Amino acid sequence: MTETYDVLNPATEEVVETVHLADVEETDAAIAGAAAAYPAWRDVAPADRGRLLRRFAEAVDDDLEHLARLEVRNAGHTIGNARWEAGNVRDVLHYYSAAPERLSGRQIPVAGGLNVTFHEPLGVVGIIVPWNFPMPIAGWGMAPALAAGNTVVLKPAEMTPLTAIRLGELALEAGIPEGVLTVLPGQGKVVGERFVTHPAVRKVVFTGSTAVGKAIMAGCAEQVKRVTLELGGKSANIVFADADLERAAAAAPGGVFDNAGQDCCARSRILVQRSAYDRFMELLEPAVAGFAVGDPSAETTQMGPLISASHRDKVASYVPSDAPVAFRGSAPDGDGFWFPPTVLAPTRADDPSMVEEIFGPVVSVFPFDDEADAVRIANSSEYGLSGSIWTRDVGRAIRMSRGVEAGNLSVNSHASVRYSTPFGGFKQSGLGRELGPDAVEAFTETKNVFISTEE
Ligand code: NAD
Repeated sequence: MTETYDVLNPATEEVVETVHLADVEETDAAIAGAAAAYPAWRDVAPADRGRLLRRFAEAVDDDLEHLARLEVRNAGHTIGNARWEAGNVRDVLHYYSAAPERLSGRQIPVAGGLNVTFHEPLGVVGIIVPWNFPMPIAGWGMAPALAAGNTVVLKPAEMTPLTAIRLGELALEAGIPEGVLTVLPGQGKVVGERFVTHPAVRKVVFTGSTAVGKAIMAGCAEQVKRVTLELGGKSANIVFADADLERAAAAAPGGVFDNAGQDCCARSRILVQRSAYDRFMELLEPAVAGFAVGDPSAETTQMGPLISASHRDKVASYVPSDAPVAFRGSAPDGDGFWFPPTVLAPTRADDPSMVEEIFGPVVSVFPFDDEADAVRIANSSEYGLSGSIWTRDVGRAIRMSRGVEAGNLSVNSHASVRYSTPFGGFKQSGLGRELGPDAVEAFTETKNVFISTEE
């Protein structure tokens, strides 16, 4: 019996498409195909591999509006975000298309000969993608993996396979050989687990929940398989009294409610210096009320629906009837998995809303006294992915940036993801880094070769 999955439009609850889910045999066949394609792909001349990745980038660019509109229906992303996400895949492919010709090893001085290092590709890389950013996260894994000479099998999330399937088609249209990039919709327990257990898969790149990430890391240990993990977050947006409070308050909703809060980097804790707390809340309220929630295909919409009914139930469980709600924005009624932007003012730093990743449009605002207090609260989390610091004092910005345990911080901004800079988490937010100049090396083994010059 073949298994299928009905992909729902989260804004309307209508079926967009029914997708076939791969079983273990099909997964094994795809991995075998990737293993068979590997030697030839590894041996493509560096300039040609780069050229093929640029063609792939151009194919994505030519299809950008179609991909974006597909993501609006597939994942409920706003059209503005979806265009940025498709553009990000293009940009990441372009960025790493320069890598094959620059993947140089080193010549290390030794006695009696010549010593050189090579960055050898690994073989087949398995990439497991979550539903919250289906396109960018696929791109962050596949572009550097392919650039380094690996072949890729990629599993999108069950709920959001459509844009990944399209990216696989575009790769073929661009001339990337069959078997070099295979997109394999399927269940985590079936296709994802097979990436972990199949010996021909030499590395797993996993983005998703911390619980599944731990199981994948444990599974990979069995074969000492390479693994990169990008997991959850509970990032702090730290606002000092000396900051431009108007700007900080105006930017705060975007920092947490973008993508309906379904963002591992969501600044879901706002820590405000006590002396500025009341003023900040006064400024935040109209900013939240004005955050435009609705039809994700409308150009002016800032926030769409949540991904599913069950995810909405999970998010709602953090806002029980006696929750310390400070104020809320609005959301449509009727069909679709809607949830309004919600601001909580908990009184305890260990309140579940301050500690657990909600992954929805719910933010907790909490006061602090001084720098040390802010660092203590920000770091009192098992996560450490990103965060923001708002202050006009340069020294304080630097001290705080060094003190907060997180992989990606921004000062007077919430922008912490750029394809040219490294991205990843401290503590239980992950292991390894994606993006930036070094990501390609994470898809290679260093080989050392000594050549004797003795006669
Ligand atoms: P999830 O862990 O449920 O699923 C992620 C992917 O793993 C899906 O493709 C799923 O099918 C697959 N999977 C599930 N069980 C598996 C198993 N046993 N073996 C192999 N694969 C399996 O996560 P999700 O709910 O899709 O995504 C949300 C989570 O992702 C959040 O915690 C979020 O913070 C995290 N996330 C992290 C980053 C980052 O870069 N750090 C980025 C985006 C999302």
